[in-house]
Amino acid sequence: MTDGSPHVYLPRSGTDDFSVLRYDLDLDYRVATNRLDATATIRARAEVPLAAIVLDLVHLKAKKVRVDGQKRARFTQSPTHLRITPAAPIPAGTEFVVEIAYDGSPVPRRSRWGTLGWEELTDGVIVASQPSGAPSWFPCNDRPSDRAAYGIRVTTEQAYAVLATGEPTGHSVSGGRGTWTFEREEPTATYLAAVQIGRYTLEPRRSAGVEWVVAYPSALAQRVLHDFEPVGRMLESFQDLFGPYPFPSYTVVVTEDPLEIPLEAQAMATFGSSHADGRSGSERLVAHELAHQWFGNSVGLASWRDIWLNEGFACYAEWLWSEVSGGMSAAAHARIHHAALRLKPGALVLGDPGPDSMFDDRVYKRGACLLHALRMRLGDETFFDLLRTWTRENRFRTVTSADFEALAERFSEEPLAAFFDAWLRRPQLPALGH
Ligand SMILES: [Zn+2]
Repeated sequence: MTDGSPHVYLPRSGTDDFSVLRYDLDLDYRVATNRLDATATIRARAEVPLAAIVLDLVHLKAKKVRVDGQKRARFTQSPTHLRITPAAPIPAGTEFVVEIAYDGSPVPRRSRWGTLGWEELTDGVIVASQPSGAPSWFPCNDRPSDRAAYGIRVTTEQAYAVLATGEPTGHSVSGGRGTWTFEREEPTATYLAAVQIGRYTLEPRRSAGVEWVVAYPSALAQRVLHDFEPVGRMLESFQDLFGPYPFPSYTVVVTEDPLEIPLEAQAMATFGSSHADGRSGSERLVAHELAHQWFGNSVGLASWRDIWLNEGFACYAEWLWSEVSGGMSAAAHARIHHAALRLKPGALVLGDPGPDSMFDDRVYKRGACLLHALRMRLGDETFFDLLRTWTRENRFRTVTSADFEALAERFSEEPLAAFFDAWLRRPQLPALGH
């Protein structure tokens, strides 16, 4: 499975030939007809001499393309890619700007992990792209290690609220249509860029120094306000445990439709009405998605192969929230899930689970058990010092499992090579420890 390439899990998504610095997305969207008319302006840097610029774009149709202001660039489209030929090759190290006018009726992208990306709800839209759904709504370099700034502008029917990646910078209404603008300076992976549209009420809050907002259909007010109230205390606890919250704000969207699973986006998380039962039935998931803001969104993956760095940490954060909020201890969660993992059939190599098992529950639980075993080896003080150093030194950077292993070694008096080998590179489940 391991061939050394960071693209081995999604070989057809993204390219190392260039890096995007900034996406400016101007979207004109009609909820009633699912019609998107858009322009993407992409500022990027060539990493190699570029005779062609290849972007991921699925189902939507490019109408006109300009490179560095030239009148029209030649381009061709396959079902999954847009290939642009600039008038002259772009030298390595040079910045360039591509402007793409495109349109169509966006649909989710079908993948081995189900349907991903832009998705119509009964009355609105969600974007849930992880891992390869971003090209369902904008042309992009769809690899997780390519992180860029975003400016997003969405115009749609006036009745709807729009929440998108970025801090809100404006809202105006004209001719029955509302325009919403957002600005995200922090480097953001394509899979974490999102737009959420619905008839939402916005409830702004401030906790532990962080502005956060819950957006929800007013009919769900009681259930949502009850179930998401702990976000404030989670922000406080997680900042103690993991270090400062990485973004200026946090947005929680709860859709009118039920959703199978919630999903994190940059400084945002989306839940379905099914996650707001009014009895805190999904509290662990509320903690999980918030924890991704540190693990996955700020400290990001260089390669999907290291998905445990996202999901193992977010799952362990669920157990930590349980512990600090007066529920079962993380140790008890670890024992229960470790016992359950031992009974599960099939082998899983946590450090290289393979694309089909990327989102397998065993990646989450075994990753969290690894962290608990490491905590027992290092002791609480050192372990949480390690976590805070990890988030501080790698804030807005991409990392690999080897980076975490090297950092953990710095915090350990005993060598950890055998420990990480057993947990990450061998299929057999190691003992949890004492
Ligand atoms: Zn997760």
